[in-house]
Amino acid sequence: MSTIQSSCAYCGVGCGVSVSSTKADWVDVDVADVSLMGDSNHPANQGHLCAKGERLLDSLAQPNVLRYPKLRSGKPLDWDNASTLIADTFAQTIAEHGPDSVALYLSGQLLTEDYYVANKFAKGFLQTANIDTNSRLCMSSAVSAMQRAFGEDVVPGCYDDLEQAEVIVLVGANTAWTHPVLFQRILTAKKANNAHLVVIDPLSTATAKQADLHLAIKPGADLALFHGLLGYLADQNSVDHAYIAAHTEGFDTVVSQAQQLSANLTQLAIEVGVSVTQLTDFYQLVVNNNKVLTASCQGVNQSTIGTDVTNAMINCHLALGHIGQTGCGFFSLTGQPNAMGGREVGGLATQLACHMGFSQPEQQLLADFWQTDRVADQKGLAAVEMFDALAEGKIKAIWIMGTNPVVSLPNSEKIAQALADCPFVVVSEISPDSDTAKLADVLLPAQGWSEKCGTVTNSERTITRQRGFITAKGQAKPDWWALSQVAKKMGFDGFNFDDNVSVFSEFAALSAKVKQVFPTKMFDLTGLTDLSKAQYDALAPTQWPIALSAQIGQQNVRVFSDGVFATATGKAQFVAPAANISQQLLPSNTLLLNSGRSRDQWHTMTRTGHIASLRASIPEPVVLIHSSQLSTFSLTEGGLVRIEAIQNQIKQYSAELTNPDFIIQPSFTVARAVVDDEIPTNMALMSMHWSAQFSLTKGVN
Ligand code: SF4
Repeated sequence: MSTIQSSCAYCGVGCGVSVSSTKADWVDVDVADVSLMGDSNHPANQGHLCAKGERLLDSLAQPNVLRYPKLRSGKPLDWDNASTLIADTFAQTIAEHGPDSVALYLSGQLLTEDYYVANKFAKGFLQTANIDTNSRLCMSSAVSAMQRAFGEDVVPGCYDDLEQAEVIVLVGANTAWTHPVLFQRILTAKKANNAHLVVIDPLSTATAKQADLHLAIKPGADLALFHGLLGYLADQNSVDHAYIAAHTEGFDTVVSQAQQLSANLTQLAIEVGVSVTQLTDFYQLVVNNNKVLTASCQGVNQSTIGTDVTNAMINCHLALGHIGQTGCGFFSLTGQPNAMGGREVGGLATQLACHMGFSQPEQQLLADFWQTDRVADQKGLAAVEMFDALAEGKIKAIWIMGTNPVVSLPNSEKIAQALADCPFVVVSEISPDSDTAKLADVLLPAQGWSEKCGTVTNSERTITRQRGFITAKGQAKPDWWALSQVAKKMGFDGFNFDDNVSVFSEFAALSAKVKQVFPTKMFDLTGLTDLSKAQYDALAPTQWPIALSAQIGQQNVRVFSDGVFATATGKAQFVAPAANISQQLLPSNTLLLNSGRSRDQWHTMTRTGHIASLRASIPEPVVLIHSSQLSTFSLTEGGLVRIEAIQNQIKQYSAELTNPDFIIQPSFTVARAVVDDEIPTNMALMSMHWSAQFSLTKGVN
């Protein structure tokens, strides 16, 4: 029996796994030859796994695996012809319509090495920054807020802070279901330290049920809650004036605005949707404890005011002088295993590699390093903008890798139509069955988890090696390899990578160069620049910034502890909310549709939807509503409901429920009505996972 260490394919906790094989030489290993358990030496999980992680090997039994490149007609291609077709079509499209007529849309499932080559290809050689990722859907509010406050997309703290805190505040985060292993760490530490857990969520989630204080706020009221907290801290003289004066800017303006809210706590409590007692209990917990940590997830990130909400939370911790201190500050819970790795290499359209922006010196550094005169000189289109441009016919060729935007992006019918109308769609996937893969003109077989090798970065900045252990079948290839083939066919130099090690080495060297030229940047892989293949293969989980090779294996690293930030002045910025703090009223005869994740499913279910034991807890799409609403909407418990967004109103949130006597179209907006009297009467809840592929009406014509 032989064992290797890898990482889980799912969430941003980034748990380590140990995979054992009956074949000691790991040659021609198949899933039947291996077993899997949590890696007891990995700092994120110390041997623990959640239900999804425990069943990782079951996810490999896909009913239909893509093993060869093929055209939409089903005609197979070899890689040489496929890469020539893509290279020629992208080159012709750019020649006729300009660089911004092409785009790449990536995924937090990609490894850092894949992300790096994709970013180099687009921003360094195609001369477009139209490269974005589904990580934007789960992270962009936190990214933007941290850039505004700290000057760089850097999470200051680490998981250890969640265990050291006296008060843990979880905002818009059903951590018990979405980050189960981390939640168990929190509960264990809470018990040991007698810490307080505060959960801020409109719904009584599995996480909220474990809270000492649950604030069931109105959706969208988190901005008023935290802006009011800043005013309250100032009113109580609980802010750290010395820290504010030495290390921050903008406090006076923001706090005077915040104190307008805290001046009338009764009115503020009404605005937030909680009692005055609950509001002041929460505020007093923050006043009376030294170590307060606030962590947020999709309930904030996917809000239309998410960036302002995140800055409102950060404002409070800046006022307390608590950024980068043990057990304190703001923490962002990332959704995907490599959302952060993608941001490091510049996978977002709004930044260049290694956390650089688009200033002329930053562009020049990349041009010199990559030896190209085609570096993109301005931000590209972010995810939603990109698909808007696709729908408008401005983008005429797109390459989608490892993600399913037809299901995961808002307004999915529009996304599907835009892809159907796009002249050239390339999709790299492990299966041809996803709703997006079905719209590809060229389908490329990607290596999946268990086959591919590289690195990922989790929520606390820990880089972990993901090691392949099953021999890839057919012609499935790493994404960095597929991108390099096309780049070379287009005549671009700099893509002769031998393996994932050579890609990582170039990325680390770029990071070292950036750190040398822009020393205030916190992102730093200088200590990993000279790894041999053997050292890379053996790399232990390591948190960045890594200034020295001696720091390999370091953990519990906090950033900005010295009060020096990555802004132009070195001072953190208080940011005033631009969004309207008051709540918007819903039209009558509507419910607010809130979305969430199921404990045992992952994203659009392409990986977990086939696993019977994971499907068992919630086997079909359901919409949860309060029993009092059944008669209002003429529904029957257990009956089917059609759910429609209200266009041109607050459509991100609102939905209309109707009793469907016309279930004739396959549609993921059909769900079974389930009564849950813990759901607020003005709200309905549905998980985000379901799609046409797993629809109740699949196969109905
Ligand atoms: Fe995987 Fe996340 Fe579960 Fe850990 S908590 S086993 S990373 S899904």
